Amino acid sequence: MVAAGSESESHTALYDAVVIGAGPAGLSCALNLVRAHARVLLVDANRPRHAATLQSHGFLTRDGVAPAQLRQQGREEVLAYPTASYVMGAVTAVTPATGTVIDSSAGTPPEPAAALGFAVTVAPVRGSGDPQIYHARRIVIATGIQERLPDITNLRAYYGTALHSCVVCDGYEKTGQPVVLLPHPQCSEQQLDVVQQLLRRFSPEVLVVRDAVEIVGERAQMQGVRRSAGEVLPVTQGFVLPLTTVQAPYLAQFGVPAACPQGLAAWGVDQPAELSNIGIPGIYAVGEALTGEPQQLVVAAGSGAALVPELLLSLS
Ligand SMILES: Cc1cc2nc3c(=O)[nH]c(=O)nc-3n(C[C@H](O)[C@H](O)[C@H](O)COP(=O)(O)OP(=O)(O)OC[C@H]3O[C@@H](n4cnc5c(N)ncnc54)[C@H](O)[C@@H]3O)c2cc1C
Repeated sequence: MVAAGSESESHTALYDAVVIGAGPAGLSCALNLVRAHARVLLVDANRPRHAATLQSHGFLTRDGVAPAQLRQQGREEVLAYPTASYVMGAVTAVTPATGTVIDSSAGTPPEPAAALGFAVTVAPVRGSGDPQIYHARRIVIATGIQERLPDITNLRAYYGTALHSCVVCDGYEKTGQPVVLLPHPQCSEQQLDVVQQLLRRFSPEVLVVRDAVEIVGERAQMQGVRRSAGEVLPVTQGFVLPLTTVQAPYLAQFGVPAACPQGLAAWGVDQPAELSNIGIPGIYAVGEALTGEPQQLVVAAGSGAALVPELLLSLS
């Protein structure tokens, strides 16, 4: 595989770290890095998983805040520091800065690029334009997880309002009312059991529906769930159990599979782990991208902050 193409515009600055993803994990990591005088470029594609909802709960001092507001305020706090930069765009490739060809299929581990740095290719997400290339000594992946919702007509329209996926985050608002639980067909019985147990704290009636075909509603108001036989269950709210995966195709040069269902940490366990928590020297992951599991805002933010001492020590 070959490093990024020559039609891209290359920037000469060398950042201490490029943080990919400006959700709570990436923002928290970036904030603590710039407060330690590190030169940080934060790159974000502006496609947060959380965008489906209008309110987020359970983040101490920020209970009920709109997700977009949380992210914007987080960006402003990071960018108040002189060593912080931000660009909106999607990272499409991370390569060793030398641009050397790495044949990961040959079974040899990648070069220890940590000392040399990395080139990060960023494609525009709005309008057109050439990809840009930035250089950094360290990479922090904070891109979250991708969800696969069950294949149910109109589900997306009610996801984040009547239907949620995090019981601890959104169970309170459904207290005392019947809820439907819609698992993805490939979710394990164990996952289903845990969610059901949690839901019983909030709801007197939990209806697990495995053959839902459509969410029925009038504008923003969910009115029921149509089952495969045609009848409609009159339930107006509930939870979805999606499948989750971490997708980091831009790490292909390092042999990382396109989809990592158990997160980047699990991918890296058998790899040489020097200077990294994912087994690629110089590249780290935080938040949901590290574990592959849904977290909460405060947990993801904590993960971003927790990496900082190790990363700073690796730079010195
Ligand atoms: C509907 C819904 C409701 C929720 N409600 C709550 C709640 O009430 N309370 C709570 O605590 N938690 C809630 N959560 C969970 C919470 O949103 C997540 O735990 C948290 O956002 C994870 O943080 P993260 O930084 O790891 O990833 P994310 O917040 O997902 O951020 C990842 C960022 O990476 C960017 N990105 C991805 N790929 C690239 C790329 N190639 N290049 C550049 N950028 C990229 C994305 O644009 C995104 O901004 C909710 C989640 C959902 C889906």
